Amino acid sequence: MDKAKDIARIMELVRPNIRKLTPYSTARDEYKGRIGVFLDANENPFDNGYNRYPDPRQKELKQLVAARKGVAVENIFVGNGSDEAIDLCFRIFCVPGKDNVIAIAPSYGMYRVSADINDVEVREVQLNEDFSLPVEALLQCADKNSKLMFLCSPNNPSGNSFPQAQIERLLNEFQGVVVVDEAYIDFSDHESLLTILPQHPNLIVLQTLSKAYGMAALRLGLAFAHSEIMSVFAKVKYPYNINLAGMECAKRLLQRDVDAEVALVRQERTRIVPLLQSFKSVRKVYPSDANFVLVKVDEARAMYDVLIAAQVIVRDRSHIKGCEDCLRITIGTPEENDKMLEILERYEEGHLY
Ligand code: PMP
Repeated sequence: MDKAKDIARIMELVRPNIRKLTPYSTARDEYKGRIGVFLDANENPFDNGYNRYPDPRQKELKQLVAARKGVAVENIFVGNGSDEAIDLCFRIFCVPGKDNVIAIAPSYGMYRVSADINDVEVREVQLNEDFSLPVEALLQCADKNSKLMFLCSPNNPSGNSFPQAQIERLLNEFQGVVVVDEAYIDFSDHESLLTILPQHPNLIVLQTLSKAYGMAALRLGLAFAHSEIMSVFAKVKYPYNINLAGMECAKRLLQRDVDAEVALVRQERTRIVPLLQSFKSVRKVYPSDANFVLVKVDEARAMYDVLIAAQVIVRDRSHIKGCEDCLRITIGTPEENDKMLEILERYEEGHLY
């Protein structure tokens, strides 16, 4: 690790207008003492459980996340899904029409959508044919305006994780911020990069409560980084980006032990891979560290349509470069997986077209 690459240099990557920004100060930010009568925020005074503005800093929720993840509260951002954190990365670091970001391909589609919305160039670097990381090519396409590098590990849609040593090399050699999206980390054998966060001021780790924690409907994404970067996120986000109902549900659901569910998903993944592989029309099942598998088949659209006709939907990724003829299948319950397999079996036998 290059110790000289300290946080002061990283903070210089922040857009000048954001560095200068005076954030909106909420009524509840301005006074910290004990108060019994709130006449400061123009709220409705009649209690219905939701008449007061929620905590703009999400302190209690962050404390629970901190305990779960072994990270300090000041290193945590909670957003309206990881998608908010992705968008904030652009708004904080990239000057529209001037700066660029580097991203792997194929990968999660929101990096490009967020870039397009923010008028930021994306330099996509195709993964190798086995979906391994082209470290050299990623470094080579960077220039002085390359502010961010998006990596996703385990990667969506390929399902594989990248070796930590390769990501560390990128952290050390790339002059911008490396954003590692770990939405699927709980299903992986690989360790999260949260353990190396203190050594890398240019690392932002994204995780989410949508997958292993089972809260996709609540829209709660997490970002972890150096406290100075997290302070900038807090400045730029909408003041009340997380609503009280969502926070209450999340606090309750975070008490649940999700280990058994994650273990079952992993067990199902192990069970269905060889079954999928045994079909004649399945050419390859890519090794997966996530809660889905990418499957290369003879005729992706035909297989997709047959599944749809039986009211089972998977994700057709066949039009994406590097994923030709591929379907992405989420691991469901054992019963759901059996149903999917049964439809494919009948399709193979020629009973369904
Ligand atoms: N990152 C990756 C890699 C994803 O695949 C997804 C959703 N499919 C997300 C982030 C979005 O997560 P969230 O629900 O937290 O917005």
